[in-house]
Amino acid sequence: MNIHEYQAKELLAKYGAPIAAGYAAFSVEEAVEAAKKLPGPLYVVKSQIHAGGRGKGKFKELGPDAKGGVRLAFNLDEVKAHAADMLGNTLVTIQTGEAGKQVNRLYVTDGADIAKEFYLALLVDRATGRVAFVVSTEGGMDIEEVAHSTPEKIHTFAVDPATGFMPHHGRAVAAALELTGDQAKQAAKVASSLYEAFLATDASQIEINPLAVTQQGNLLVLDAKVGFDGNALFRHKDIVELRDLTEEDAAEVEASEYDLAYIKLDGNIGCMVNGAGLAMATMDIIKLNGEFPANFLDVGGGASKEKVTAAFKIILKDPAVKGILVNIFGGIMKCDIIADGIVAAAKDVNLSVPLVVRLEGTNVQQGKDILAASGLAIVPADDLGDAARKIVAEVRKAA
Ligand code: GDP
Ligand code: MG
Repeated sequence: MNIHEYQAKELLAKYGAPIAAGYAAFSVEEAVEAAKKLPGPLYVVKSQIHAGGRGKGKFKELGPDAKGGVRLAFNLDEVKAHAADMLGNTLVTIQTGEAGKQVNRLYVTDGADIAKEFYLALLVDRATGRVAFVVSTEGGMDIEEVAHSTPEKIHTFAVDPATGFMPHHGRAVAAALELTGDQAKQAAKVASSLYEAFLATDASQIEINPLAVTQQGNLLVLDAKVGFDGNALFRHKDIVELRDLTEEDAAEVEASEYDLAYIKLDGNIGCMVNGAGLAMATMDIIKLNGEFPANFLDVGGGASKEKVTAAFKIILKDPAVKGILVNIFGGIMKCDIIADGIVAAAKDVNLSVPLVVRLEGTNVQQGKDILAASGLAIVPADDLGDAARKIVAEVRKAA
């Protein structure tokens, strides 16, 4: 789960990270009110979307010459104009894809005079199984380019969980940033506070880009991107409250309400399967037969009629879906009960695309009989290979 920059900064500030004063705003008026509470004369108006690259992003509605999603303002009128430009419009950045993201929230912050921009991130290093720091002197808006063309400028080191964050880790961060004296101490302190925040919140990623040095010589967290481990959210009610559902795929949100594991993909064959392993195998075998799955969908162990109906509706909302493959193993659930659910759901949603069903397991024959007697144009399949071949053929026939 990801959160917005302003939420991330408020969170990190609790652990001692240095951030500039700022306020979230949902309207142009609120943006101006926010600026009035700041000292000025320099303000930054920042689009809040769950994607980076905002500074260099472009608004679809404003044309190619308009400024991006992070703008400096030198008085309240400029704050107002920038806010009006951004709110409700669609920001396209290298991370949003072509569709872009609508800006519904702004963050108005006290502007800093920047002397230098660094990069500092924490993530879970899968190779060592440890929390790792990624540090570079070359922060700012071109970090992807730095990683690509001068990878030696990016330093990485992991923290042993048995010792936790030690003073030498702080010194290593400072050294990687080529800082000395008081700034080295500041860097060590920032690193320590971020590490503490990472562990305490079960974060999966904390990315500070840029970590700025101001003209006054102070380190400041200017941008923060924070993500959390979804499996640990049950113990962070306060973080769950920061979730912004408008930033997430609508079908995935709906699926989570029914306790369905659904992930949208690019293909044209909708899949409804029970069990993650069987779902992966189903996707593989569709590809083997030359088409692509439109989604990953695991209806879980208890595939009730309600769940199956919800799953059909979610799959059919995707206009790319040209056929559905149901592949269910009746282990705990019996095949006849699943068949009842499929028939009821198919009638309920007025199924308009070919449907191939492969059932296996307890009461399989009763299940097949129910499908055959339903009067619906359901194509029965005997095994996984047969099912994949049949749905691919059906989809191609319809095209
Ligand atoms: P991103 O483009 O989504 O990564 O958004 P950032 O929050 O990183 O902002 C983009 C760029 O705007 C930064 O790299 C800075 O160069 C600039 N910026 C952000 N905040 C300030 C600020 O307070 N003062 C100045 N002068 N520039 C800023
Ligand atoms: Mg940034």
